[in-house]
Amino acid sequence: EGSDRSEEQVSGAKVIAQALKTQNVEYMFGVVGIPVTEIALAAQELGMRYIGMRNEQAACYAASAVGYLTGRPGVCLVVSGPGLIHALGGMANANMNCWPLIVIGGSSERNQETMGAFQEFPQAVRSSIYGRPGACYVDIPADLVTLQEKVNSIKYKECCMPPPVSMAEPPAVCMAASVIRNAKQPLLIIGKGAAFSHAEDSIRKLVEQCNLPFLPTPMGKGVVPDNHPNCVGAARSRALQFADVIVLFGARLNWILHFGLPPRYRADVKFVQIDICAEELGNNVRPAVTLLGDINAVSKQELASKKSLPMNYYTVFYHVQEQLPRDCFIVSEGANTMDIGRTVLQNYLPRHRLDAGTFGTMGVGLGFAIAAAIVAKDRSPGQRVICVEGDSAFGFSGMEVETICRYNLPIILLVVNNNGIYQGFDADTWEKMLNFQEAATSVPPMCLLPNSHYEQVMTAFGGRGYFVQTPEELRNSLKQTLEDTSKPCLINIMIEPQSTRKAQDFHWLTRSNM
Ligand code: ADP
Ligand code: MG
Repeated sequence: EGSDRSEEQVSGAKVIAQALKTQNVEYMFGVVGIPVTEIALAAQELGMRYIGMRNEQAACYAASAVGYLTGRPGVCLVVSGPGLIHALGGMANANMNCWPLIVIGGSSERNQETMGAFQEFPQAVRSSIYGRPGACYVDIPADLVTLQEKVNSIKYKECCMPPPVSMAEPPAVCMAASVIRNAKQPLLIIGKGAAFSHAEDSIRKLVEQCNLPFLPTPMGKGVVPDNHPNCVGAARSRALQFADVIVLFGARLNWILHFGLPPRYRADVKFVQIDICAEELGNNVRPAVTLLGDINAVSKQELASKKSLPMNYYTVFYHVQEQLPRDCFIVSEGANTMDIGRTVLQNYLPRHRLDAGTFGTMGVGLGFAIAAAIVAKDRSPGQRVICVEGDSAFGFSGMEVETICRYNLPIILLVVNNNGIYQGFDADTWEKMLNFQEAATSVPPMCLLPNSHYEQVMTAFGGRGYFVQTPEELRNSLKQTLEDTSKPCLINIMIEPQSTRKAQDFHWLTRSNM
């Protein structure tokens, strides 16, 4: 230590092991022999896991599975000749599966055959995980394994960056969204590409926000849990056969999916295909839309494009949930507002949710919120109270806003406004109706005045009011009011007047006469 290391020597084997470690490669499987044993030893010395197997084929299967599971390639270490030939099965399998893998084979000495260089390592790691993942092979001449080099003369390439994330082109994203929106019997197929890209959160949100049925491929299982209510795995054949729009998330239309062809599919089925590999797009069928890009990124793009206006309950609650402090009180009342909100908005603490309760009472919300805010002020300062009200529910005790302002309580009122009780009308329909007949006889009992500015009830008493129509306005206003606690606030959130709760099941899958 501290001494001059300029004369210190290091073997080729150690350099190889160090290069792998520098690339965050953690696992090596193999069957050792001349000339690769030293590489396994060197790897162990550096703290990498070496697992000695009995046949290179199994070693190679194992290494490729590690690549799939961890996102960094596993190494399969083999000897030249028969060792490499045995590994070929695993390499082919990894390539077909699109799983990252590095096979390192020892070969004869360089004076017998000129090949390979140290510098190939970083490229090997990159090419196994960038773009469509797969197997790559590095040939190490025997004399490089034993060669002694001056430590100072060796440079390790720093760990390569994670694969760059590519997104699909925006017009294609919009087109896909519109194809999906207009589908009568949509189906998502979730493949192992989705698993590899860690797209579980975004795909789950897509499934839930758009209420889309999904079918996992064998290794796409678990990306969204099999017991999710939208999983139609049990009705696989029917799902494939009757879907009019199928969205492929990292699954190929190969034999596993019956090539995407009739009679397993409708002849007029529209495919939306998402894959990181351009060559895969349009294979076997002509897709309605192709999205070239990373699945996780593209499903987020699709989610974002769901900004289609007006918002519905799910869009609203999704954006609210994203920002809610975990320790907040949630008070809620209203019909759909309370029911749907309950499924999306999360509580993490006991006694922090108050709603219409056993008696199904509307008009309790503001009183409950005031109580929660007072108690929170005394016992757990800093905790916020979010009061999620339907527009009709808000009407029952809206004047308590004055109380809230008088005591300056840290309450955020969200009025989810669909212009009515259960459902209302948009302003245009409303106008037409009134032109036609007198209000008293023609206005449906469920309607409330369209586009009412409930936020002005709050501003009337000096609080902060927002009228929001887009997810962005909603997010911004909520962010502002969560950051600045100086005043109570009411966000009047306009949603689709006819927006209702999602259908409870997928009739098209269960109807027996189809
Ligand atoms: P399954 O067997 O589940 O049907 P496949 O192996 O047929 O899955 O298809 C997986 C697809 O996923 C491949 O076409 C591959 O190119 C693609 N893929 C792999 N990783 C990604 C990624 N990060 N983003 C998008 N597509 C990916
Ligand atoms: Mg497939």
